[in-house]
Amino acid sequence: MASSAHSRGSLRTERQVPPARGNGGGNPPARSRSSSAKRSLRVSSDDDKDSGRVRVAIRVRPKTTEEHDLDFTDCVELQPELRRLKLKKNNWSSESYKFDEVFTESASQRRVYEAVAKPVVESVLDGYNGTVMAYGQTGTGKTYTVGRLGKDDPSERGIMVRALEDIFANISPGSDIMAISYLQLYLETIQDLLAPEKTNIPVVEDPKTGEVSLPGSAIVQIKDLDQFLELLQVGEANRHAANTKLNTESSRSHAVLVVHINRSLEGKKENDASSLANVANSELSSHHLPHRLKSKLLIVDLAGSERIDKSGIEGHMIEETKFINLSLTSLGKCINALAENSRYIPTRESKLTRLLRDSFGGTARTSLIVTVGPSAQYYSETASTIMFGQRAMKVVNAVKLKEEVDYESLCRKLEYHVDYLTSETDRQQKLRENEKEQLEKKLKEKEAFLVETEKQFSVKYEHLEKERNHLELETQNLLKELNIQKSEKDKLSQEVGHLEISLKQAKQQELENLNYQKVLASTTHMYEKKIAQLIKQLEDESSRCADLEEQLSGIRHYLSGNKKSVQMQEKEVDELKREILKLNEDAASTIQSLRARNNELSLEKELLNGELKTLKDKLLYEDRKRRCLEDEIIILKNALNDDNAEYESKRPYKGDATTRSMLSLGGPANIPKSNRSRETISGQKDTISKIFEEGKTVNVVANLAAEGICLHLHFADVNQERIVEEGGLDTLLLLLESSEDANIHRVTAGAVANLAMNSSNQGLIMGKGGARLLANIASKTEDPQTLRMIAGAIANLCGNEKLHVTLKKDGGIKALLGMVQCGHSDVVAQVARGFANFAKCESRVFVIVCSKGHRKGRSLLIEDGVLNWMATNSATFSASTRRHIELSLCHLAQNEDNTLEIIRSGGIKELIRISQESSREDTRNLAKKALDSNPAFSAEIHAT
Ligand code: ADP
Ligand code: MG
Repeated sequence: MASSAHSRGSLRTERQVPPARGNGGGNPPARSRSSSAKRSLRVSSDDDKDSGRVRVAIRVRPKTTEEHDLDFTDCVELQPELRRLKLKKNNWSSESYKFDEVFTESASQRRVYEAVAKPVVESVLDGYNGTVMAYGQTGTGKTYTVGRLGKDDPSERGIMVRALEDIFANISPGSDIMAISYLQLYLETIQDLLAPEKTNIPVVEDPKTGEVSLPGSAIVQIKDLDQFLELLQVGEANRHAANTKLNTESSRSHAVLVVHINRSLEGKKENDASSLANVANSELSSHHLPHRLKSKLLIVDLAGSERIDKSGIEGHMIEETKFINLSLTSLGKCINALAENSRYIPTRESKLTRLLRDSFGGTARTSLIVTVGPSAQYYSETASTIMFGQRAMKVVNAVKLKEEVDYESLCRKLEYHVDYLTSETDRQQKLRENEKEQLEKKLKEKEAFLVETEKQFSVKYEHLEKERNHLELETQNLLKELNIQKSEKDKLSQEVGHLEISLKQAKQQELENLNYQKVLASTTHMYEKKIAQLIKQLEDESSRCADLEEQLSGIRHYLSGNKKSVQMQEKEVDELKREILKLNEDAASTIQSLRARNNELSLEKELLNGELKTLKDKLLYEDRKRRCLEDEIIILKNALNDDNAEYESKRPYKGDATTRSMLSLGGPANIPKSNRSRETISGQKDTISKIFEEGKTVNVVANLAAEGICLHLHFADVNQERIVEEGGLDTLLLLLESSEDANIHRVTAGAVANLAMNSSNQGLIMGKGGARLLANIASKTEDPQTLRMIAGAIANLCGNEKLHVTLKKDGGIKALLGMVQCGHSDVVAQVARGFANFAKCESRVFVIVCSKGHRKGRSLLIEDGVLNWMATNSATFSASTRRHIELSLCHLAQNEDNTLEIIRSGGIKELIRISQESSREDTRNLAKKALDSNPAFSAEIHAT
């Protein structure tokens, strides 16, 4: 079972840990630590300087029931958060100590492991030696802390079991090796607990490396935790048996568990990619040497540190205690010396110190857990234990990496490499030989080929030599020839030069010729054209010459004929001259007689002028007389009206219309008349009686008409009314409609014209279709008198604006315009008057309507062409007609709705003329007013 883990020929090397780093200095860095190890004995930041320092924790055991019963007061008081322990000597004296960790009674095994042992275990796994040691008085819990198996309760497991657990979890089973030795040191002898037969095992120190070994002790390779637990149990059993045999207790011996760890760097790399060892590995690999980490973990459960006097033992026991204490005392001394940096460390004084040579003042990472009981009865032991711990805290180790070159694997690798190289060399050798053979063969072939080629070459050379000679000869001949040709060429080139010059000249001449030819051609062409023209002209001229000659001969012929007649005419002229002379003489005599006659007539004219003057004076006198008479008539008329009213009120009976009319007509006594009017009436009556011969109705109407003519003389108002009342108007209109007689038409129209002077009659006339009848007659007759009557009648109707629309509809306006065609000045005067009446009424109505805020629309005269006629003809008629037309235009111009038409018809020019030239001032003003007030007129004037 036990086997040696030491490999052959390994050379152990140690490397000092690089200076402390922030993560804990000498501790192997970056290993995956358990998170539960929140507070471990690892280097804290303030301990950076002494990373290899021995870490010391203190653990206080819970009180036993006995201690409880005895009711001793505690001599220790813990301040775990300050990592302090207060040791109370008595109630008034105490001392405080600082540790790396302070565990109370309730501290769990797990926490103790993680804080005290785990960092050491990890360090060991990283290739450093490590030591975890428990120190304390018997019964304070060293074995409990370190060696408890915890089979029934895993939480009870001590440091040994937990450390092995950790190691198993971290090593690679294939490449890493883990083995243990379990030993007991009692009375300075070392006994193998795994192989109890092995007693007195020596502690051997390698003089070169200082490595301590226990030759002969069993080093058992462990595969799993169960195997370890078994071994540990075996060891415990062996310890118990040995102690029984030796009649002693386990508390009097020191138990040492040695865990050997041998790790390959490759395997470790897999587990720990970035450890410090990895740095070393990379260094090693740079030398291409395989390395292994070989570290050791010592877990030591020391014997009790109580003093002899307190243990109450004697005899053998004393001896025993002495030895036990030799080791412990020696340990204490060493620690003191180390703590004080003494030059001499008494390591060799005991086996324990020799065994722990690397743990204190060596290269290992060391954690010490000191255990104390709480009870005051062990005050001095507790105090000495605390002091031991305090001193141990001062020991600083130089932690070093334990690595070795793995020569075994190196050798294997090299052998493999040598084998590979040997076979490779053989292969290459073989290849080279083959190559050499082939090359030799090729060389031979080439040599043969060379000989053959040389032969061919010499033959060719000879041939070429001959050819060369021949060619040289030829060359010489050619050179001679060339020289001859050269001189010839020179001559030729000279000639060529000459030729070129002449060629250039010829070319230039040619060019000039060409141009000249062109000019010649164009000139020729031009001349040809001209010649052709001239020929044509010549031809024309010759033909004309022929004609002229012909004419000339004709003329000559004619002239010869004429000569004779000229001679005859000359004779005639002479005769005529004579006759003229005679006539002149006659005329002179006539003029003389005429002048005499003229003088006579002038005398006569003077006489007539005198007569005319007397007549004018007479006329003036007559006029004045007429005015007096008119005044008289008015007075008489008023008197007549009064009489008439009296008569009407007294009249008892109304006879038939005809009779009454006749009566009234036949009663001239009622009406005062001047002699002249009486004459006129009697003249007209004659005409009427002539008409009356045509029939009964005509008789009546003739009288009415006669009466109508009387109205002309301002006596008619009463009669008019009566005539109308008696149906006279109807009769007149009937006559107009039915009669074909021109005279009746004339007289009737005159009567209607008179009636139409009265506004109430105007309505009746229009109502009974009078206007239409008048227009009808106007279209049929050419008699100026009839037309004058009709025009007068319609002109009167034009003065009533209420009748305008009907008048237009019945053709009154058209009839008026049509009557202008007759050209009779009286008729035209009536027509102009009618239009003036019409326009004036419209203008008046327009003013009224405008004042009420709305428009009437354009003039009714426009549609029938009246405006056009007026605009073009105003200046062509007599003064009175022109005045009427001017007035009409001015009135029409007052209405803005007529503007457009006035502009179109050219009336605006007429208006301008009226405004400047009209004989009447009021008309001029009216025209000016229209032109000024209408912006359209202004714009039009501006535009033209
Ligand atoms: P030592 O090895 O120091 O002589 P032991 O480990 O044998 O002491 O402990 C003595 C007794 O005290 C044992 O019964 C043990 O179980 C108990 N004991 C020690 N420490 C503790 C502790 N921390 N918690 C509970 N029991 C403890
Ligand atoms: Mg014990």
